[in-house]
Amino acid sequence: QRAEEISAATGFVISYRNNGLVWQTPYTGGALPEPARYRMRQVSPRTVVGFFRGNTLIRHSLSEGELSFIVPRSESAERGLRLWMLFVLTALSFILGVAYFLIRRTLKPLHRMKSAMEALHAGRLDYRIPQHGAVEFRELAEAFNTMTIRVRDMLQSKERLLLDVSHELRSPIARMKVALAMMPEDAQTRSLHEDLREMETMVTTILASARLQHTADTLKKTSVSLSGLVAEAIETLRDRAPGVRIAPSADMLIRLDKDKIRTVIQNIVENAIKYSNAESAPVTVSWEVDAAQVTLTVEDNGIGIPAGDLPRIFEPFFRVDDSRSRLSGGFGLGLSLARTIVEAHGGTIHASSAADGTRVSIVLPR
Ligand code: ATP
Ligand code: MG
Repeated sequence: QRAEEISAATGFVISYRNNGLVWQTPYTGGALPEPARYRMRQVSPRTVVGFFRGNTLIRHSLSEGELSFIVPRSESAERGLRLWMLFVLTALSFILGVAYFLIRRTLKPLHRMKSAMEALHAGRLDYRIPQHGAVEFRELAEAFNTMTIRVRDMLQSKERLLLDVSHELRSPIARMKVALAMMPEDAQTRSLHEDLREMETMVTTILASARLQHTADTLKKTSVSLSGLVAEAIETLRDRAPGVRIAPSADMLIRLDKDKIRTVIQNIVENAIKYSNAESAPVTVSWEVDAAQVTLTVEDNGIGIPAGDLPRIFEPFFRVDDSRSRLSGGFGLGLSLARTIVEAHGGTIHASSAADGTRVSIVLPR
């Protein structure tokens, strides 16, 4: 009777077991789990406690028989638990979402930095980072902007100096040429004449390149047949070892400044010949045309260019290993002029090199 009272008041299921006899308070809440499923744990010499899916079983051994209490899982407690978990999950995803946006917002200036670095890498020295956001980022942006201005100024004064010197050299060279023409011709004056001619070429190349860089609209564009132009360009170089071969490529008309692009092709092919050996395979000129652009490639099997020097070969006066190139003559201006001309046409030029030779490609928009 006492057990039934307790059971009615608490909802526990109380049972007594002795010698095969089982007595249990009534329970209406559906099936209870098998006793074997509880994970039991000894809590005192005569008592064990176990849990299974929210149900609790307590077994207590008496001197005769065994008394057990089952506390069935309560529906309302379970609903509460589920609601609580739902709340925790919602709160957690909300916090994660907010944190994600906050972090993204904080890191946004880093993205601006990254685009600025990329712009600088692409040679856009007029790029400035907008200065807002946290103090640290504003300062960083300011430092970056100041740096690019300084770099730009340094480059400009370097270019200015080169131009001024080249410009000023023109009159002395002219005067020397006149003086030389008056002298009796012998081996020495011939060699002086040769040197003067070289200096003059150098000065004209630098000035021509600068003029193009600052006034790309001086290009005299006409419609030109590509294969005709290539044939014309290699005309004078064709017979020099190891020879030049034009790979069969579709002909087409393209608008460009004929004389200037001819110079570009000549410079590149001349390099390919100059930096090959007589025993190398012939230099190959080929081109590919697609809807938007023409890619012209000159390939040789010569001495190649070390990977570390590749990015610099388009700089004025840069020559890989000056001692080796001295023999072959030149100032390191050919590719720099080529790049200026190609860029004035809105195109790009690049080079790649491996142990078996060099490829230089120019890409011109159609
Ligand atoms: P210039 O063209 O003014 O007479 P240059 O040929 O030395 O002189 P660039 O044409 O600008 O100058 O080339 C720069 C440097 O790049 C060369 O000195 C050479 O070291 C290297 N180079 C260019 N093309 C090749 C090539 N096809 N194979 C190996 N090295 C090359
Ligand atoms: Mg050259």
